[in-house]
Amino acid sequence: MTDEIQMGLMQPHPLLISSLIVHAERHHGDGQIVSRRVEGDLHRYHWRDVARRSRQVARALDAMALPLSARVATLAWNGYRHLELYFGVSGSGRVLHTINPRLHPDQIAWIANHAGDQVLCFDLSFLPLVQAVHGKCQTIRHYVALCDRDALPSDSAIPGLISYEQWVEEQSDDYHWPQFDENAASSMCYTSGTTGNPKAVMYSHRSTLLHAYGAALPDSMAISARDVILPVVPMFHVNAWGIPYAAALAGSTLVFPGPLLDGKSVYQLMEQEGVTFAAGVPTVWQMLLDHVKGEGLQFSTLKRTVIGGSACPPAMIQAFQEQYGVEVIHAWGMTETSPLGTLCTLKNKSLMLPEEEQMKLRRKQGRVLYGIDFKIVGDDGGELPWDGKTFGDLHVKGPWVVRDYFPGTDNAALVDGWFPTGDVATIDADGYLQITDRSKDVIKSGGEWISSIDIENIAMAHPAVQLAACIGVSHRKWDERPVIVVVRREQMALDRDELLQFYEGKIAKWQIPDEVIFVEAIPLGATGKMLKSKVRQMPEVAAYCALAASRQ
Ligand code: ADP
Repeated sequence: MTDEIQMGLMQPHPLLISSLIVHAERHHGDGQIVSRRVEGDLHRYHWRDVARRSRQVARALDAMALPLSARVATLAWNGYRHLELYFGVSGSGRVLHTINPRLHPDQIAWIANHAGDQVLCFDLSFLPLVQAVHGKCQTIRHYVALCDRDALPSDSAIPGLISYEQWVEEQSDDYHWPQFDENAASSMCYTSGTTGNPKAVMYSHRSTLLHAYGAALPDSMAISARDVILPVVPMFHVNAWGIPYAAALAGSTLVFPGPLLDGKSVYQLMEQEGVTFAAGVPTVWQMLLDHVKGEGLQFSTLKRTVIGGSACPPAMIQAFQEQYGVEVIHAWGMTETSPLGTLCTLKNKSLMLPEEEQMKLRRKQGRVLYGIDFKIVGDDGGELPWDGKTFGDLHVKGPWVVRDYFPGTDNAALVDGWFPTGDVATIDADGYLQITDRSKDVIKSGGEWISSIDIENIAMAHPAVQLAACIGVSHRKWDERPVIVVVRREQMALDRDELLQFYEGKIAKWQIPDEVIFVEAIPLGATGKMLKSKVRQMPEVAAYCALAASRQ
């Protein structure tokens, strides 16, 4: 017996993002990329053009003498130039930092300084934003406007501003992608910062490639060469959930919506380009469904859609499936998990269940994707049973889960190697995960927990409700009681008693909200999620909370 381990005798190619675009060019170079541009028109070209121009981007970065691992930021919609930056920046060993343009300008400046961004590439529609923040961005040395040479404004007041087309076209496309450690940083994304300053997650080439394989698996997003994919999820929202990389790997056609995310524009693009698969957050799909319903339309090519980022209301899953024949894959993930964690595709045995039981499963956030492991734990840190009822703090681990936040000083607080997600969930015997709440949103009433997501989902199933947010309000006797804040659909009548009656028989009596507060709109965060902290500050809601407190 010897203790020496026999190593495998296979080629040690590092898993680098550049290999995706090399593959795309060689094996499906004629696959199309369609983009609605900020300029308003539709742009079409092919994977081989993405490959050629991303090599030019790499050379343009070399020409700026930008060191390895330098951060190159973007403020851009989904489009072909952004895609070229995905491959050109990371492939050449720099780090792509996609900034969410919907953040507050001060937060954008804070993020750019914190990341130490050296280059900022932005769509011209964000020029006013860049003009507002560039004085505060201390590390950015180069500004590149994602536009043609002639479209470059001469009076932008941004020093050294150059057009992307000029920047790229000046370079030859003769470039050899460098080879380096697959654990090198490739891109970074900040969490939306709903709780304090945003935190930076820095992905590696290895984590991105493994995640791309995972994203393409049949029980995941099932991304293939036969797909025409519309990522409505922005490329600044956790790398559009990995779709650009997975599409390069599989050879799918990509259709980018640019800045137009309203129901009508998204629907037209889907029909015109024969989109088979789309991905986005529930608020965007609600706009699409409203348009399709209002105009009496159908989807002629769309087969499936991944919905995640926040809980997908069951009424939405049902509408897509039953009225339009589109499969909804409900998914859970976070910036810290690259983001795919679980996706709700059914096991064979679940397909034997009656329709109604299947629908109950589809409402859950789904089964874990290989590459991630999960568990739920109680207050004492002990693992809780998978019975579909017991809920606890969700912990995850795997090669595409964060180890530490950038710059490596903000501890991600791993517990024995597991990342505590801050979500509360149940897991059933078949491994289907259901998120009941964000731990900070959980409502504790009389020693029992009430899931704010359940309360919202029921309200959203009422035809007159457009959006609903459930919050806990302090209560003298019960600690906290649920209150539902509701936006009514235009021109539809609904009063408090009718909505409260609607809850009857659907949940236990003590879980029914104490009050309904009607508002004009619910504040949404930068990625389209309801901002419960802001909901609490709305005058109507704050007044109710103050009244409730005065009764104590
Ligand atoms: P942030 O945490 O900054 O809002 P993320 O996009 O990383 O940004 O959000 C991750 C969180 O979003 C998860 O921890 C979870 O609370 C919520 N989330 C994501 N997908 C779902 C889903 N399908 N159902 C319920 N909550 C979800």
